[in-house]
Amino acid sequence: MLLNDIIQKHPAEKTAFIFKNQYTTYGEFRKKVEDWALFLQSQGVKRGDRVGLLSKNSTDFVAAYFAVVKAGGIVVPFNFQLIAPEISYIVKDTEMKMLLTKNPVDLDQALRELGWEQELKQVTFEEMVPPEGAEFIDYALEEQDPAAIIYTSGTTGRPKGAMLSQGNIVHNTQDFMAITKMQEDDIALCVLPMYHCFGWICTVCANLYIGATQVVQETYQFGDAMNLIKKYHVNTMCGVPTMFQLFVKGATAEELAHFRFFISGGAPLSRVLYDAFAKKFGQHVQEGYGLSEATPVTTFNRIDKTKQGSIGLPIPHVEVKLMDTDSQEVPVGEVGELCVKGPNVMLGYWNRPKETAWTLRDGWLHTEDLAYRDEEGWIFIVDRLKDMIISSGENVYPREVEEVLMAHPDIKEAAVIGIPDKLRGQAICAYIVPEDGGTTDKRMIRKYLLSRIAAYKVPKEFIFCNQLPRNNTGKIMKNVLREQSLDNLINR
Ligand code: AMP
Repeated sequence: MLLNDIIQKHPAEKTAFIFKNQYTTYGEFRKKVEDWALFLQSQGVKRGDRVGLLSKNSTDFVAAYFAVVKAGGIVVPFNFQLIAPEISYIVKDTEMKMLLTKNPVDLDQALRELGWEQELKQVTFEEMVPPEGAEFIDYALEEQDPAAIIYTSGTTGRPKGAMLSQGNIVHNTQDFMAITKMQEDDIALCVLPMYHCFGWICTVCANLYIGATQVVQETYQFGDAMNLIKKYHVNTMCGVPTMFQLFVKGATAEELAHFRFFISGGAPLSRVLYDAFAKKFGQHVQEGYGLSEATPVTTFNRIDKTKQGSIGLPIPHVEVKLMDTDSQEVPVGEVGELCVKGPNVMLGYWNRPKETAWTLRDGWLHTEDLAYRDEEGWIFIVDRLKDMIISSGENVYPREVEEVLMAHPDIKEAAVIGIPDKLRGQAICAYIVPEDGGTTDKRMIRKYLLSRIAAYKVPKEFIFCNQLPRNNTGKIMKNVLREQSLDNLINR
């Protein structure tokens, strides 16, 4: 089964999407995907060409994604919050043929600075009209053909593109569906960002697959979400923990009483929040775990069986092993690296054979997440081997922020960590060692960062110090910084 088969089976008159009061039926949606795929081929998109997609959530985003894959291309969805140098890095890394967008962005200078001499064609959704008489080229694509490249990064600095096949996406959707009880008469809130594979698989593809209706929110906003829930009788939702936190703060039990399920993923759901939600709404938030390299869904709690604090059990067809550093499975109750095998594991990183070989060594995807299993097989995440920070569901890679900070002439050294934050899950905190006589003006440093990285990556807290704690091999001891920052928070 290919990605486009997901949308073939439902009645043409059934509503697939409601976005900004506009209804799109399955029939209209399929027609748009066909027209846009034809348009892309008429513009020279061929099998295997990388096509960028940059837009907030919308029905057009979904149609463009499907159209690129139908045309034989590989879609590269962007986090819409990235700024020109970050977008340009991905354009160059993928040797992108074309960028589909709601609003064109000025990338000329940033691309030139990276030494990218070719012109990048940017096409708006309105411009995607196929010429009269254009004929569709059927490449007879197969499940193992790459469909998407999702940019993500581990400990090794710059983002890498996880290459997902048609089969990865379809199988992960089906295996996720097998453990949810989604129904075709469901009305789902589509609020997770579509550029991230959690939102893409668990909301967009899953609801299209079952033939349900999705109410699309451009970006998450609590008040709007509540209005949409009321207006369209929304009864299912996948979200990140921050969104459930806002429900606990601002929604009444009555307003959410008709919900059939709430699914959380992308970041740890705290036990406090799980309990508070259950107490207020009489329902459990069903937590799952995954990562871009696994399309993402890997483990999940079940609708009729959940364990507080656990990321659940592996989904069907997916195997999870917890391994020690010698690639041996650890006993029950002991912590090991969570490794994954199954139809959800990526093809590899785009153009990075060494990192691919390392991450997929011994036939297992090594996630760099640390976890243990209880006697019944339920899995509990302990910590991240990688230092990634998850703030309001957005991944922030400390090393990227550190590099930008250290490029500032007044900064000698910097270390970035995540600190607990009730609303965001984690907030970003930067430890800075200034150059002698260098500025310690937080406002100026914040302004400098805002011109170089997306706002969600800019630290909330800045702590100036004389030196950073290092171990005897010269590595910064971030665990010490984390403890210090906690003391700081407590003593404030
Ligand atoms: P991404 O590649 O953007 O999907 O980020 C994947 C990472 O998010 C994983 O490697 C985990 O560190 C983290 N993550 C995802 N879901 C959970 C969860 N339920 N609990 C704890 N961490 C999670």
